[in-house]
Amino acid sequence: MDIRVGHGYDLHRLGTPAEGGKKMVIGGVLFDSSVGPIAHSDGDAVMHAVTDAILSAIGAPDLGTLFPNTISENENRNSAEFLNEAVMRSIESGWVIGNIDITVICDAPKISPFREQICATLQSLIGAPVNINGKTFEGTSKECAIEVHAVALVQRGKHE
Ligand SMILES: [Zn+2]
Repeated sequence: MDIRVGHGYDLHRLGTPAEGGKKMVIGGVLFDSSVGPIAHSDGDAVMHAVTDAILSAIGAPDLGTLFPNTISENENRNSAEFLNEAVMRSIESGWVIGNIDITVICDAPKISPFREQICATLQSLIGAPVNINGKTFEGTSKECAIEVHAVALVQRGKHE
């Protein structure tokens, strides 16, 4: 097969700065929010899910294996660096990323006003079309959280 898909998933609890919540960054875009992800890195759940989707599609080790959250070097790390690593690995192993599809589940902040900005940020890092959809937990969530599902399609070929 010269086409593969990969699925990535991420979940972060959200909290106030006093609770250990970091700045709310979603897909590389900074949101004005009273809560943010509780995480070792910068907690950008979209970047994490997309990184894992690409790594999974190309058969590489996952994000947690490549960048363990037990290493101080990864503390507060800009998650765009994780995504860059996944993109570099896909190029090196002869896979071209076809497109990325993302679903974000989060009650607040709403991502819809920033969809295009997030897609543009991710597209510039990935070099392929990116689509993102926003959903809410529909009143089912016990915790304040952000959950992200991402799918990456890759195909054998050379990057232009
Ligand atoms: Zn994460």
